[in-house]
Amino acid sequence: MSVSQLARSIVESPTLRLNEEARLLRERGEPVIHLGIGEPKNKTPIPAILSTASKLVTGDIKYSPTDGLPSLKKAIIKYTEEYYDRIVAPENIIISSGAKQSIFNLLYCLLNPQDEVIILAPYWVSYPEMVKMVYGVPVIVTPEDGTFNPRMADIERAVTSYTKIIIVNSPNNPSGVVYPESFIAEIVEFCERKGIYLITDDIYHRLVFDGVQAPPGYRFTKKDLETTKVIAVNGVAKVYGMTGYRIGWTIASRELTQVMTNIQAQTTSCVSSILQAGAEGALLGLQSVIESLRLQIQNNRDLIMQELRSFRGVKVTRPQGTFYCLPDFRAYSNNSVDLSNFLLKKAMVVTVPGKEFGIEGHLRLSYSGTAKDVSEGVERMRWALDPESANEIYIGDKKLVRDWL
Ligand code: PMP
Repeated sequence: MSVSQLARSIVESPTLRLNEEARLLRERGEPVIHLGIGEPKNKTPIPAILSTASKLVTGDIKYSPTDGLPSLKKAIIKYTEEYYDRIVAPENIIISSGAKQSIFNLLYCLLNPQDEVIILAPYWVSYPEMVKMVYGVPVIVTPEDGTFNPRMADIERAVTSYTKIIIVNSPNNPSGVVYPESFIAEIVEFCERKGIYLITDDIYHRLVFDGVQAPPGYRFTKKDLETTKVIAVNGVAKVYGMTGYRIGWTIASRELTQVMTNIQAQTTSCVSSILQAGAEGALLGLQSVIESLRLQIQNNRDLIMQELRSFRGVKVTRPQGTFYCLPDFRAYSNNSVDLSNFLLKKAMVVTVPGKEFGIEGHLRLSYSGTAKDVSEGVERMRWALDPESANEIYIGDKKLVRDWL
């Protein structure tokens, strides 16, 4: 087979691969606990289900406008006013098949070959690969102080004449950190002064804990939408737990939105109108379901912090948002891929190696599942790694004895 060099250079999505592995193990009846999960466990909110169903029963399921259904755009305008304090026009919005496609299309529209995109580690696994897919160059900036908070000085040092875009994702996948308001204000000011686009990936923006807020980039620009360098991406996947709907959107200048519309028209034509109707139902429906989802995730965050505290040698930054944390396992191994494989084999727990997010020696653990999965998952990990823990454990109905420490 002769596939292109570029396609060959793109790696498999490690998180989607792990989902598949976990699914196959479960199918074989293995008592696997999936702490690699990238989605909330909730059912689709009722208003979204009703709205999806009523669109479907019309039987009138045809192409919709490439940039999205006007009625969903109207709901997004209301949402943007409420959560971003910005009034946007329908021409500033394009709806795509998930925030993933929104980000890919943005990169496609903005980058020339060899243009650089600054990505802040730890980062979402898809950013570097998507940049490479449009012949751009990912430039990774890692905080030198060992925290998960990016520093402007490190970013400024990474900027060259080729820097076209900086991507910021807060609340952050994989660390759960919410970047402080002062950082967001500084980076917006910096990008506008330097003429660099700032993509804010806000997909987790309402999944925040303890009263913390994730400040939107738009709050810190005085420019209007046609001239600002800030571009916002959002969607229904995480906040509403509607990952399967594949609805994301971009808020940008009319000019950029038009270019993105041309690209989408020549690739996917439009997003399914059934699913857009569902997203509209979610945005306009009662938001209390979201609050109970957020609270349940916050409780799980508390639980996983408590479990990890008694895990000898493991250090963890307390997440203020998302449903992930990124503990440091260097007391046990510097190789997160080996460690993750070991935990799957010995303890039947799925974790995601930090290496995939640009932070070696760490594992991303998701606490979006049940409280039982969270505490049992960490207990199994402790059994597999910590010689001071009891050396016998029940996994499923099997009693296992640790004989490797
Ligand atoms: N951005 C981040 C940071 C994510 O974690 C994800 C999903 N894992 C996405 C974007 C993609 O979201 P969607 O499902 O809407 O494509």
